[in-house]
Amino acid sequence: MVKVDENKCIGCGMCAGLCPETFQMNADGKSEVLNDAVTDCAKNAAENCPVEAITL
Ligand code: SF4
Repeated sequence: MVKVDENKCIGCGMCAGLCPETFQMNADGKSEVLNDAVTDCAKNAAENCPVEAITL
């Protein structure tokens, strides 16, 4: 399960850039989860989120 805390997300786009199969930016400029499988790419994005908004 992959989750984004929209209250923490600052909309930097890092996760969607690193792992577009899991994350996309929504109309509010926040990341949303497209696919909640815990892949290496989703883990990498979580590690690189500057505000630790992604939980796995
Ligand atoms: S990397 Fe973190 S702060 Fe940046 S868009 Fe993704 S969830 Fe939001």
